[in-house]
Amino acid sequence: MDNKRDIIKICIFLDGIGYDSILSSPPLKNILPTLVPIETVLGFSSAAQATILTGKYPQEHGQFSMYYFSPNPTLPKFSLKVISALPYFITRRKKFKTLLALYLRLLHPKGGYFGLFEIPPRHLSYISPTEKRNIYKIRGVHPHDTIIDYWYKNHLNFRVFTWEIPEEYSFQQLLQLLPNTPLERVFLCCTKGDHLGHKFGPFSKEVKEYIEKIRQYIEKLLEVCNKLYKNVSLYIFSDHGMIEVKEAIKINVVIEQLTSKYRNDCLIFIDATMLRIFTLNPKKREALRCILEEIPHGKVLSDEDLKTFKCLFPSKKFGDLIFLCDPGYVLLPNFFGDLLPRGMHGYDPNAKDYATFFGCNKKLSSQPLHISQITPLLK
Ligand SMILES: [Zn+2]
Repeated sequence: MDNKRDIIKICIFLDGIGYDSILSSPPLKNILPTLVPIETVLGFSSAAQATILTGKYPQEHGQFSMYYFSPNPTLPKFSLKVISALPYFITRRKKFKTLLALYLRLLHPKGGYFGLFEIPPRHLSYISPTEKRNIYKIRGVHPHDTIIDYWYKNHLNFRVFTWEIPEEYSFQQLLQLLPNTPLERVFLCCTKGDHLGHKFGPFSKEVKEYIEKIRQYIEKLLEVCNKLYKNVSLYIFSDHGMIEVKEAIKINVVIEQLTSKYRNDCLIFIDATMLRIFTLNPKKREALRCILEEIPHGKVLSDEDLKTFKCLFPSKKFGDLIFLCDPGYVLLPNFFGDLLPRGMHGYDPNAKDYATFFGCNKKLSSQPLHISQITPLLK
């Protein structure tokens, strides 16, 4: 008698792995009869991952970057006063930043992925973390339903392994769980690839070795699942590609101008590939735009551009002037560090060699072209 369980869908998310990086691993390609390049969204990981989970674009689900401009800042006013009063030789220390990040985590216990990185303390008075909850938990992108909400509402037996757990433990736990738990859906996040891509570059031996390790986990997983289930669907995908970094755009002079001469006219946030300005004094908006337009190797995004990318936020909470770097360039310094990474993302989604990937262990008749089209397949 065949007492196999019916069906399982396994969704494996590899953060920051582009289509070209996956192609450089022929063995993984061999277990994926469907393997296609797909387009991402403008923004960073939080934007792209929320799109995969909801099937919606950033302007619909509301995630675009790790922080937005807010009158309700990340830290309470009293703490900000104390921090601002501290001398720079203390606030620049790694230990201080670690403690501050712990404090931030205590203040936002349900929050998603965010950290303080190299954000100068004085800028903390007007920014707030975008992910109010871990997006992989139930109601994670509330009020928008995610794939996890769908599984929950439909009483499916599922398990989510989030970025909070190192992926080798997630795979181990899943393999131990499967024989005794009739799971129907699994979502497993693997985040190391993004870190390796930044540090060593998207085509480095470190990224290749990482993909090979993932392939070994997947082969083992498929072997176990095929013994337990009649129908095993494995989906593997990423949120964005990773482009080799060519050069830094040094913006010390721009920062100096914005934070001294225009100190009372605007708020700024510097992501690796975007400089975002929230204008406080509308009379200075054109002058601020001119400063951004002077920066080489990039452009100031028009509302038309943002509309095309479906990243036009009427509240302008991510800024009303956004400079975006050309592919391969990084703003330095930025609020995430002052070292030049080997790989970066957060560029125009149509940039050459920036596609990410979607793969499946079955030949699919209809294949996604964009990360928003992955969502229905995972239901
Ligand atoms: Zn990244």
